[in-house]
Amino acid sequence: MRRRGYAGKVLFVNLSNGSYHEEVIADEIYERYLSGIGLAAKILYERIPPHADPLGPENILGFVSGILTGSGAVFSGRWMVVGKSPLTGGWGDANAGGDFAPAIKRCGYDAIFFTGTSSHPVYLHIANNGSIALRDASEYWGKDAVEAEDALKATHSSRAGVAVIGTAGENASLISGICNDRGRIAARSGLGAVMGSKKLKALVLEGAYRIAVHNHEGIKEISRSVNRYVAFQPPLFSGKYAALLGSFMRLNPLQMAMDGMVYKMLLKRWGTSSMNQMSIEMGDSPVKNWAGSNEDLDLKQSSVYDPDVILQREKLKYHCNSCPLGCGGICSMPNHFQETHKPEYESIMALGGLCMNKDMESIFYLNEMLNRAGMDTISAGATVAFAIECFENGLLTKEQTDGLVLQWGNTGAVVALIQKMIKREGFGDLLADGVAVASKRIGEMANSYAITAGKQELPMHDGRNDPGFNLHYSVEAAPGKHTIGAQLYYEMFQLHRVVPDLPKVTPLSLYRKGQKYIASREKAQMAAACSSFMNVVNSAGLCLFGTFIGVHRVPVFKMLNEVTGWHNSPKEYLQIGARLQTLKQMFNVKHGIEPLSLRVHSRAEGIPPLGGGANKGRGADMGKMMADYWREFAWDTATGKPTLDSLVLHGLASYLEDYREELEKA
Ligand code: SF4
Repeated sequence: MRRRGYAGKVLFVNLSNGSYHEEVIADEIYERYLSGIGLAAKILYERIPPHADPLGPENILGFVSGILTGSGAVFSGRWMVVGKSPLTGGWGDANAGGDFAPAIKRCGYDAIFFTGTSSHPVYLHIANNGSIALRDASEYWGKDAVEAEDALKATHSSRAGVAVIGTAGENASLISGICNDRGRIAARSGLGAVMGSKKLKALVLEGAYRIAVHNHEGIKEISRSVNRYVAFQPPLFSGKYAALLGSFMRLNPLQMAMDGMVYKMLLKRWGTSSMNQMSIEMGDSPVKNWAGSNEDLDLKQSSVYDPDVILQREKLKYHCNSCPLGCGGICSMPNHFQETHKPEYESIMALGGLCMNKDMESIFYLNEMLNRAGMDTISAGATVAFAIECFENGLLTKEQTDGLVLQWGNTGAVVALIQKMIKREGFGDLLADGVAVASKRIGEMANSYAITAGKQELPMHDGRNDPGFNLHYSVEAAPGKHTIGAQLYYEMFQLHRVVPDLPKVTPLSLYRKGQKYIASREKAQMAAACSSFMNVVNSAGLCLFGTFIGVHRVPVFKMLNEVTGWHNSPKEYLQIGARLQTLKQMFNVKHGIEPLSLRVHSRAEGIPPLGGGANKGRGADMGKMMADYWREFAWDTATGKPTLDSLVLHGLASYLEDYREELEKA
């Protein structure tokens, strides 16, 4: 059968001895595991030995593209990096946009995996004619990600796809990521440290291979239809009114189910920063290391994050590959660097509201600094907020912090601290590996302020506002990520329109806010559907924001069939997604992770409850929600581990023997 949508092979590079080889992947594997994160889950589960050191030669670091990448399908430009996470000790993944994803496919591979460890800095170069070489990277080592990318493109080709680590990855910071397109970053799970420990500075990909598509016309027709939805953009209110809308949502006892078209309009106008003030007002954005609320950051104070203020600096809209929406932007930065990627909501709130830093100029600066260093802005901001709270409560002294007075809203201290973290200098070294490591070094008392899930710092979406976030922070194999599910996401995905047995949510319908906090079978079904769906999305290489528009408008499953020539129903795709969810959970069990240990920090759960503000008194029964969720996958509801029966149910019977042994060892 002619391969369509996927290249049909992957590249393995052994950094210890400089050898490489291709492996042809059977069609049946793609049919059962898809590509992207699915294929990666299969390979990593089978080949990383249990208890492998994430920073050692036995870990495998994979750069994977999606099955739709390079096909012309809209929103299909995300690439993923995968490996055993040095931050959590379990399954790790992160993804980013830009133009790097199709560069992997153009080299004729669906994925490139690195094993071993080099003795000196190297980069992988795949030339236009397909020749493969590991080249000396000494002259690029020590450069930040933007400098290194520019230099590598100057050496090879300005059209090359480049993924690169900055100095944070070189220094094996456990909160470092991997960058592309001058400041996009696959930030989560600490996989930049894996790349740094392997002494792999970059991948430079210049291939020119074209991917076959089953039905080009079908994909074009879908793109035309999606473009009409994306183009629909009535005049919007100003940023100030967006903030007031957040206040209204806080005060209203009713909740409105979100239609993804509304969020699409906000994204198109402002990007993710559209949510800044609105989120603080409605209780979505955590404040003051999760102990504060909108009352600490009222409308007047939060006006520094007004999206119109940010938009004034936007010179150019930025679109990832194959994206008709373009939520990104290139902004001017006169005082430091010439230009910068527009800061995202997550970065602004982690470096802003979480630390009570009300200086937007410093946030622009820190965002660019962190992107260049290749350090995760969410984790960096969360670590600074943690340190401030430790200082304020006497767990840290000025002597320990190199003289810095860590107080809420002290912009100078926040900037100085992050500069130190990037360089691993003085006190910055203690924080450079994130909250969990720092907390352990400071002492037991610091645990009260170490707000993580499974050692990963939490994103800027408060589960006391939408408990679905807390659930996914706690049950995903890569914990503490906001890109998989929430009650809000389920509303926008509109999966029930193509899988009728799933719970129905009518967009723009109203319901009592209190309902959000009641654990139920229906909510577990919704959450499980989000996880399964996002495995399909991350195997396809699609952007989450595109899928928010709704599967009835962006027909993800149809796109997959048109590109591959398969005839799977949406329900069958979700079954594949459930298989992948089970496989990633099996990976964690194999590597000694207790699923219960990933539960979100009690403060973020609402224990003790907040005394004021948008989330006053709110919390949900997370223990029950987790057990209900695990039941949906037929896993053990007490431990969260996949049972042997569930392996059979999800089509993973071939792993029974291996997994039984791992279960017994665990
Ligand atoms: S919506 Fe934004 S993040 Fe997603 S592909 Fe488009 S530009 Fe990239």
